[in-house]
Amino acid sequence: MKEKVEVLISEEEISKRILEIAGRINADYKGKDLILICVLKGGVMFMCDLAKRLDLNVRLDFMSVSSYGAETTSSGVVKIIKDLDDSIAGKDVLVVEDIIDSGNTLSYLLDILEKRGPKSIRLCTLLDKPSRREKDVNVDYVCFEIEDKFVVGYGLDYDQRYRNLPYIGVMELSDQIGEK
Ligand code: 5GP
Ligand code: MG
Ligand code: MG
Repeated sequence: MKEKVEVLISEEEISKRILEIAGRINADYKGKDLILICVLKGGVMFMCDLAKRLDLNVRLDFMSVSSYGAETTSSGVVKIIKDLDDSIAGKDVLVVEDIIDSGNTLSYLLDILEKRGPKSIRLCTLLDKPSRREKDVNVDYVCFEIEDKFVVGYGLDYDQRYRNLPYIGVMELSDQIGEK
């Protein structure tokens, strides 16, 4: 099957926006320690670039979750594949995500993390698709709001590929390409 990727958000736009968001985070957490939690694998590029712009005492931790059921329609029941290495009890925590779509995965994940007694927990996402929201999640930092399109690149995959693209692109499959 033929696949085509068109640039939606360029490398330059991404780094410019990350600088702005990092500025807000630096101001909000001034003088504090912060634990960044990367939700693997999609959030990895974003977390690395964001972390480099933070002028705070930052610790990095990683979590890998999978939702039960079909991949495209997340059920919101989440299985932890890899848990955090360290406790978040009493800590300021920022969850770093690639994209919030239905919100199911994240609201479940936030419930799990809140039970561990962090001092504060906030959410930072590279992309937000608000039109697809099923669960209300409070997103504190959003880099880009996008329409309901399937995107790849900069951490986001199609069948585990395209994560290494330096930009965010819209994925088009061959049957759609032919109709244009
Ligand atoms: P949610 O539970 O919010 O519906 O699911 C979010 C997850 O679905 C994301 O972490 C991501 O793995 C996947 N996802 C949602 N929309 C897209 C998209 O446009 N492209 C890619 N590659 N993954 C997506
Ligand atoms: Mg994700
Ligand atoms: Mg995926």
